[in-house]
Amino acid sequence: MPKQPTPTDAEGAAAGLRQRYTILLPGIPVSSNRGALGWSTVALIETGGLRVLFDTGSYGDRSLLMERLQALSLDPQALDAVFISHLHYDHCQNIDLFENIPLFVSERELRYVLEGEYRQRRDPYVPATTILSLKDRFRTVSEGSELFPGVHVVPLPGHTPGQAGLFLSREKILIAGDGVKNAWEFANRMAPPAFFSKEAALGNYDWVRAHAIEIVPGHDRPFRLQADGSTAYLTEAADVTLTFFPGPCLDPKAVRLS
Ligand SMILES: [Zn+2]
Repeated sequence: MPKQPTPTDAEGAAAGLRQRYTILLPGIPVSSNRGALGWSTVALIETGGLRVLFDTGSYGDRSLLMERLQALSLDPQALDAVFISHLHYDHCQNIDLFENIPLFVSERELRYVLEGEYRQRRDPYVPATTILSLKDRFRTVSEGSELFPGVHVVPLPGHTPGQAGLFLSREKILIAGDGVKNAWEFANRMAPPAFFSKEAALGNYDWVRAHAIEIVPGHDRPFRLQADGSTAYLTEAADVTLTFFPGPCLDPKAVRLS
């Protein structure tokens, strides 16, 4: 069963039912013809004195993730829970860093991996070895359940069958994982790559528009839904620079993504 909030200090008690999130690693909406880059959003949710990590990024994110936690004076082992939106490498590869902490994932998503359905669906992004080696640490949540008071598990199937987001109901904020991968796809009603169902993935957008005000995508910065249905980013683009070394006698080239 999900742990109930137990504020242990004055600050936690004062925080009461306040809900907020902090982006630890920004999702970057970028693709390449040299395979997936997988720069996904990693967010810290604070609710009622609890700290819940939403997704963990991939191996390439590992040192930066630890750095970001350290900058906030957060011991990875002192978090209250980790919630995994879906079991793709770019969202769950660092789960081993968080020992003795409940790892929540939807029941449908865990079955997708443990029963080998991901192979039938030719989904190449499941790091099965990692998941199988830690399978006993997962605690499954059912779709539509309340993970903690005011934090609801929202099924957003399509990209994978058990992909789920967390909805902070008081603030109407949806941390979407790849249910909403980026603002461009959302605004243009384009489904994310669908290993389960493109129709279901598009149907999720209707739920999002009907319930959420603020959306944190799986691979983009947070945006707000305007009254006219358009989207407005809430933060500046992350400062990401790619550096390419074209040859020993040539200057490195820096390409800034913004
Ligand atoms: Zn992703």
